[in-house]
Amino acid sequence: MHRTTPSDDQTEVIRRHLVERHGQTEVDPARDVSCPGHPAGDALVVFFPERPGTSPSFVCARCEGRIFPAGPPSYGHPLRAAHLVRTSPVVAALGCGLDHDQRLALIGAYERGLLGTELLALTARAQALRTRKSDRPVVEERRQTCQRYLIDEVSRGASVDDALWTLVLHAADDPVRYGQFVGGTYRPLSRDAYRGYWRALAAHVRTTAIERSRALRQAAERCGPQATPRALRDAR
Ligand SMILES: [Zn+2]
Repeated sequence: MHRTTPSDDQTEVIRRHLVERHGQTEVDPARDVSCPGHPAGDALVVFFPERPGTSPSFVCARCEGRIFPAGPPSYGHPLRAAHLVRTSPVVAALGCGLDHDQRLALIGAYERGLLGTELLALTARAQALRTRKSDRPVVEERRQTCQRYLIDEVSRGASVDDALWTLVLHAADDPVRYGQFVGGTYRPLSRDAYRGYWRALAAHVRTTAIERSRALRQAAERCGPQATPRALRDAR
């Protein structure tokens, strides 16, 4: 992290820039790349070494001051990790109670964008564990009933959002009917959970319902508020 001249990989990024964007046939780092401690008077490129909070980068005289990344930063480097712990409350909180190596591993995963995926996988596993075996047919039945309901609502002209809200409102307004409707014990779900059911439907099923909904609404606009179902059907 402390080096001021570009590494071989970083030099290669700069070389590719000059060759591919500017058609330069020969690149001489000593002549074409200026960097701290090694200034080059007519250099096209000025290289900025990596700092704990920034990635290595360069600017190119022919690209009007734009800044380009010169490859990835040193993920998991102790200096970079220490900087992140100091500047990011999220990283600091997540790293609480971990020892040095564990914290480096966690920050490495965070920086590579893997933390969210890992957390989601953990949540899904925990959710699967919470769903007891004996509950599964009920859960499956509830899912299918809600999916059928959503398809029907959307096919009848509701937007997906409205259909999701209708399910939430049914659950709140009339628990008994809702319980009978979705089967099993009464268990209202969040709008996101219903949305999950909707998204679990095959894409073509969703698209067909949405297209039908759109056609119905357009027909309703053409026919006006007094339109009968028959007039709407004919107008499609
Ligand atoms: Zn350039």
